[in-house]
Order: sequence, then C-alpha cells, then structure tokens
Amino acid sequence: MKATGCWCVCCRFMNKPASANRRYQPTCHEHAANCYTHALLVVPAALGVVLLQRLSHTGWERLTACVYGLGLCALFLVSTVFHFITWKMSHLSRSLEQCFHMCDRVVIYFFIAASYTPWLNLRDLDPPAACMRWLVWLMAAAGSFYVFNYHEKYKLVELVFYLTMGFFPASAVMFMNNTEGLWELLYGGCIYCTGIIFFKSDGVIPFAHAIWHVFVALAAAVHYYAIWKYLYTPANRRHTCRA
Ligand SMILES: [Zn+2]
Repeated sequence: MKATGCWCVCCRFMNKPASANRRYQPTCHEHAANCYTHALLVVPAALGVVLLQRLSHTGWERLTACVYGLGLCALFLVSTVFHFITWKMSHLSRSLEQCFHMCDRVVIYFFIAASYTPWLNLRDLDPPAACMRWLVWLMAAAGSFYVFNYHEKYKLVELVFYLTMGFFPASAVMFMNNTEGLWELLYGGCIYCTGIIFFKSDGVIPFAHAIWHVFVALAAAVHYYAIWKYLYTPANRRHTCRA
C-alpha cells in the first residue's frame, strides 16, 4: 500500500490521518507491526485453548472451551490475514480487500461474545441474567449485520456498537452468585478501553494500530488468566448446578 505523504519527522513511521469515511493507509513499517503483533499470538492462543480442553471435565466445559477458543484464535488469525493482505497483496481488488477488512471487524463482535461465554456458561445465573447466554450471540449477529451494510460509513456508531457489545453483557456477569474473577474481568475491560485511544489515533500517533493490537493482546491475556484460574477448577464446579 502506497504511503499517502510525509507527516511526521520520519515519514516511514506514520502517514497523514485518513479523511472522513476513508481508511488510514499505514506506512510499510506500520503494516509490518500490525501484522506481527497479532501473528505472534495465534499459536499461544491455540495452546491456551488446548490447555482449557485438558482441564475440562464435562461436555459442557469442553464445548465452552471450544467456543471461547474459536473466538480467541479467530481474532488473531483473521486480523493477521487481513493485515498481511493489505501489506503484501495490495494488488488485490479494492472490494476483496474491503471484504477482509469487514471480516476483521466482524470477528471482534464474535470474539467479545466468545469471551463472555465461559462466564455465562460455567457460572450459575438467575433467569433474567441467564438470557445473556444467547443475547450476546444475537448482539454479535446484529453487529455483523451492521458491518456488512454500513462498513466505514459511521465510525462513531461502530465504536458505540463495540462498547455496547463489550459492556452490556457485564450487567449479567456482575450478578453471578460466585463473583470470583470479576476484578480480572474489569482490569481486562479497562485495558481494552485504554487501547481504544490508540485505535482512534491512526496518523496521530506512530504505530497506533499496532499499539492497539498490544492492548487487545494484554486484555485477552488477563481474561484468559481469569477463565483458567476461576472457571476450570474443582472449586467452581462445586459452586455450580452443572457440576
Ligand atoms: Zn488490526
């Protein structure tokens, strides 16, 4: 992808911010950073899922680990493929690149739903909160519908959608009978929110998108740690009706 012009002291590290309803064009160095920051996490994510599978004692736990794992691996894999294509295969048609970009955005909705799934599935929830088990997937489907129909048209609306998807299911998780792990969930959420500053700073801060990737990786690691520590344990099984 060609640079759109010198902007900072060293134009290799940042281009001009994108104009309204256009996508920022990273420099070559930024493309590489965007690609590597998520490519390096595909294998650790897969290994983490294998570990949860080995810790599973019931079919429900295995299914939950599988759904969470698919969301986690898909996030890093789809992101890596998209950034690799925009970096190395810019000769592809604009519409095909646009398609990969939409997939990169859609997978975020499914990743958020998958991240909540272990908490919603492996903890007891009272009836109104239990609806969130399927509501998160409905929200992910609605977000995907929005991406496929209004991609890049209303960036602020897209951000509001992501924040709603990220925080609304927490209203159910907060009312779990067993509240162990809630602080880690909150820490992870705060890391994601801090990362949004960089997500919205392309062309303002060099390597902003790659820094956003690092925040995503850190937050996902905190959430994985909480799932491993509090949900796939004998103590958690004793507290739930599904044990
Ligand atoms: Zn990205």
